[in-house]
Amino acid sequence: MDKIKMNVPIVEMDGDEMTRVLWKWIKDILILPYVDLKTEYFDLGLVHRNETDDRVTTESAEATKKYGVAVKCATITPNAARMTEYDLKEMWKSPNGTIRAILDGTVFRAPILVKGITPYIPTWTKPITIARHAYGDVYKNVEMTVKGGGKAELVLTDKDGNKTSETIMDFKGDGIIQGLHNTDKSITGFARSCFNYAVDTKQDLWFATKDTISKKYDHRFKDIFQEIFENEYKEKFDALGIEYFYTLIDDAVARVIRSNGGYIWACKNYDGDVMSDMVSTAFGSLAMMTSVLVSPDGKYEFEAAHGTVQRHYYKYLNGEETSTNSVATIFAWSGALRKRGELDGLSDLMKFADSLEKAVINTIEDGIMTGDLYILSSLPQKKKVNSREFLEAIGKNLNKILAAEFA
Ligand code: NAP
Ligand code: MG
Repeated sequence: MDKIKMNVPIVEMDGDEMTRVLWKWIKDILILPYVDLKTEYFDLGLVHRNETDDRVTTESAEATKKYGVAVKCATITPNAARMTEYDLKEMWKSPNGTIRAILDGTVFRAPILVKGITPYIPTWTKPITIARHAYGDVYKNVEMTVKGGGKAELVLTDKDGNKTSETIMDFKGDGIIQGLHNTDKSITGFARSCFNYAVDTKQDLWFATKDTISKKYDHRFKDIFQEIFENEYKEKFDALGIEYFYTLIDDAVARVIRSNGGYIWACKNYDGDVMSDMVSTAFGSLAMMTSVLVSPDGKYEFEAAHGTVQRHYYKYLNGEETSTNSVATIFAWSGALRKRGELDGLSDLMKFADSLEKAVINTIEDGIMTGDLYILSSLPQKKKVNSREFLEAIGKNLNKILAAEFA
């Protein structure tokens, strides 16, 4: 088989620790033998971020704006311990935060389902994709404590200097207050990312707020979604036979539990924070959770939802055997390759991405898996392998699948 051709590069964002080790192995074993890979490479490993005063992160996000598709390895978000470990000039910000701010995107997280690993809610036979609004509300709040009483007011000074005010509470004793905000621009971007992703993946979109209680704030979210849906997406949804469904957040939670999955659940910032942990835990393993950042103008950055798996990396450095799951990172690559194929009209590249994912699933369903899955799997004949053996087993399956697909 000739190597599969690419025209436009994928933005490749390398990362840290165990996932950086897996990154190279995935390329060497599963991609480079088959694809004439074109990437624009950015080293987002902490050493190089520090050397470039974190400019490399911004440059990689700018390149994503230019080319439209990126694949990212997990990266360290520095804390006090990392300052000494890496002798950092500054406590650099989270690369994911920087990239998300530049692309103005929404993160979609979806589990990869395999036979033998049953979700805690066994009726969830299809993935539930969570889209979390990543701006505002309680995450950009202003808070105060009230001691011994006082009158709290909400005051808006408009651009002409006119003031409108409302009493929040006339406190007779101690208490607390909180000010929240969001912007139409951010909610609009969130809504477009969600509708685009629903069209892209041909799945229904659910959205929920508490608009019966919050008649202005949450209601604004509901109205913006509805307006954008009717003006820009209704026809596309009808043509694909998918639906946009709005309900109250408590009703949504009840329906999600009773559902079979197979839809996107758009959540306000706090709901998304809480519900994504619930949903991913219920589906089993963090190492089987994919993540894609989608900007309102249709740029994509694919990654795994987990971190750099630091504990395994230290074992690896000590020469000990590791059994780290590379599935979500492989799916980040297949997601990026498929999207590149779609955008550039390269059907072989799309077929390769499908084959790669099939090879991963077949390997696990044949009973060959890493330690995290071994604990969860109910397959009668299962075998725990190390990080590298797992990739090699996938490689063997991939050879077989490609031989049939490209015969
Ligand atoms: P983590 O890397 O996700 O790992 C936490 C634990 O989850 C691991 O110790 C391991 O459990 C298990 N695990 C996660 N991924 C796994 C995989 N692929 N295969 C097998 N087991 C896996 O989270 P962390 O240890 O809290 O964070 C490490 C670093 O990652 C931090 O510096 C953090 O800033 C960074 N991080 C980056 C991203 C990102 O770039 N998107 C996201 C989150 C965290 P056992 O040890 O029990 O085997
Ligand atoms: Mg959380």
